[in-house]
Amino acid sequence: MKNRENSFKKNDTIETEIIDISHDGEGIGKVDGYPFFIKDTVIGDRILARVTKVKKNYGYARVEKILKPSDWRTEPPCKLYRQCGGCQIQAMDYQEQLAFKQRKVRDQLIHIGGFSEKLVDETGEPVVGMECPFRYRNKAQYPVGQNKDGEPVTGFYAGRTHSIIENTECYLGAEENQVILQAVLTYMKENHVPAYDEVSHKGLIRHILIRKGFTSGELMVCLVINSRKQLPFQDRLIRLLKEIPGMTSISLSHNLEKTNVIMGGEVTTIWGNDRIQDTIHVRDVLHDFALTDQGITFSISPLSFYQVNPVQTEKLYSLALSYAALTGKETVWDLYCGIGTISLFLSGRAKQVYGVEIIPQAIEDARKNAERNHITNAEFFVGKAEEVLPEKYGQEGIFADVIVVDPPRKGCDGACLDTMLKMKPERIVYVSCDSATLSRDLKILCEGGYELKKWRAVDQFPMTVHVETVCLLSKLHEAKHHVNVRLDMDEMDLTAAESKATYEEIKAYVAKHNDGMKVSNLYIAQVKAKYGIIERENYNKVKSDDARQPKCPKEKATAIEAALKYFQMVPSEL
Ligand code: SAH
Repeated sequence: MKNRENSFKKNDTIETEIIDISHDGEGIGKVDGYPFFIKDTVIGDRILARVTKVKKNYGYARVEKILKPSDWRTEPPCKLYRQCGGCQIQAMDYQEQLAFKQRKVRDQLIHIGGFSEKLVDETGEPVVGMECPFRYRNKAQYPVGQNKDGEPVTGFYAGRTHSIIENTECYLGAEENQVILQAVLTYMKENHVPAYDEVSHKGLIRHILIRKGFTSGELMVCLVINSRKQLPFQDRLIRLLKEIPGMTSISLSHNLEKTNVIMGGEVTTIWGNDRIQDTIHVRDVLHDFALTDQGITFSISPLSFYQVNPVQTEKLYSLALSYAALTGKETVWDLYCGIGTISLFLSGRAKQVYGVEIIPQAIEDARKNAERNHITNAEFFVGKAEEVLPEKYGQEGIFADVIVVDPPRKGCDGACLDTMLKMKPERIVYVSCDSATLSRDLKILCEGGYELKKWRAVDQFPMTVHVETVCLLSKLHEAKHHVNVRLDMDEMDLTAAESKATYEEIKAYVAKHNDGMKVSNLYIAQVKAKYGIIERENYNKVKSDDARQPKCPKEKATAIEAALKYFQMVPSEL
């Protein structure tokens, strides 16, 4: 058997076939059983690649030549897609992208959420894709810098750096972006307005934010600048921009900080309205997402969060609404509500809706949005969900029939989940843009008396590895809940880490990734013990002083370690 650790060096050339894909979209190919992660490849590609990094159990390589393209490979329309990195899977056929996303959510529900394959498969509904998976973004943020000749440029940051690769055309964004960017660059050149320089903290224009209301056709441009004042020759910029059809709002965001955060806190409108509008309709989830109503109109300011893919958002919210199964009598809490999109969407079918959101301007927008749409049964609170909810529950004993959550990528805070469990709503609808934290939170909620009823992935971000998911949890009946509690008691002496994957799951992983290699419970227990994962009494216990016990061979220990890392039972950088 080859010594895997030392058989490869940086810059070696390897030939391999891509047999799998990581959740971050890197292809995985093996050479002599040793896996390499290789960006910009598609399952089924046969490739030549150059090794860039060698680690103990896996390495990285860069594709040099595609010897035989996969059947799932397509020609990416964007010529800069490899440099940009914004679209990780543009070379993958769209149907295959959808299958990848479905698998990603499924895997994480099983491995992080701890749900059985059977339950996950029974409760999963087909992924919701787009008919035209390009030009879907209603928001773009372009950094501004200068090229070697001192001319202002805009584009995107080259992977993991802050040097700008010039590009005003992105196939995910609105067609108008290019015209707007050209107008701003022309204004800068003609009037010698300097781009901001991150290193010296001098210069003026930092970023260009563009938003488009897809249903209204309204355009918003907000220049992020390193100044509290107005722009030099501001009228000339306005003159150029206001000619663009649809232009509705031009503003400045003042950001004087040395920071990677794009927007400054303060915004001044210099032409037109403070906000643009967009309408979101309820769609019929049972009939191909057909249009069913006039929709609710939202007004969006530069600082507010608004879903970036409006076509898919209507489908996502309609699914959330159908999962909530409202009859008009319910009290609903919408946590992480942004400008109140989901709250107002649900308000027509509920008795009362309450929204909670951390950004004060967003709540201001939410209240105005309710007023504009003549909605009187929605109330909004500013603050952290994990503070507002426990406070209101503790002081006022608030109640919910349904709780909807739509947190940012890091998921819900523990205090928020705790209070949700105390409030015991009949149903919880969890909308998530990160299936790993979603799975983590669902595990907690299901251990606390809920069961997973339905889940569905919605492709909000075609060409990227990101995926949105909506899940329905329902409160367990008392009898069922008792069983759950008993189980929990039984597992009390498991450490949190040990409970993550069963021995059978570890064995299956080892066999799958090591050409059918078999490992015993005892070997797994030995490796777990090495990492301080404590075993229950009398169960696969490692008797460290018993010399007659067989010792796990190094190769098997390496394979088991890889499985423990995969199941996040030990840190992956070990
Ligand atoms: N449901 C909304 C917003 C979802 S994005 C929509 O679909 O448009 C997540 C939102 O959570 C953002 O608006 C963000 O500002 C807000 N947020 C982030 N951390 C929060 C916290 N701890 N408590 C409440 N809101 C939070």
